[in-house]
Amino acid sequence: EPIAQMIADRVVDVPDFPKPGIVFKDLTPLFADGEAFRTVIDDIVARYAGEFDAVVGIEARGFVLAAAVAYASGTGVVPIRKAGKLPRVAHAVSYALEYGEATLEVSEGAFKPGERVLVVDDVLATGGTAVATLDLVERAGGVVAGLVVLMELGFLDGRSRLPGREVHALMTV
Ligand code: IMP
Repeated sequence: EPIAQMIADRVVDVPDFPKPGIVFKDLTPLFADGEAFRTVIDDIVARYAGEFDAVVGIEARGFVLAAAVAYASGTGVVPIRKAGKLPRVAHAVSYALEYGEATLEVSEGAFKPGERVLVVDDVLATGGTAVATLDLVERAGGVVAGLVVLMELGFLDGRSRLPGREVHALMTV
């Protein structure tokens, strides 16, 4: 079974979440399927083999993926967290949401200078979260090796906000 189909078969569309008019893509059934989860993790590890020294996960579903990719590749995992969670904040980046604003933070000493960082998340939507995260990685001294997501919502064109970046989606809708 092709990997994109494997993901498509397991994602659940949830209408009107988190607010009316939004169809939320719930990928947790994919995470809960051992064979599918291993397949997507192995695909990511193989694609970027030898190209990264650390893995960043974006809170919170990104943590699940990043930890598995790090373990499978023998690298470390670094969390990028929502505001107020990290005890030693080195850098914070705020970005606009449809309504309001969000802030992401990275810890002091998160990366060795020049460390090559693979950033992993479940879904690329408008790209705001990804732009802020890559900015944080670089402010903290890392070098972005790539951004990989399980699913890209192509109709939101988040990719256009990431010019010159290595962006890979295991599937696109
Ligand atoms: P963006 O900043 O608009 O690209 O939104 C991406 C972030 O929001 C990621 O961290 C995703 O986990 C989350 N997200 C946005 N839309 C969805 C969705 O439909 N399903 C799951 N996560 C989503």
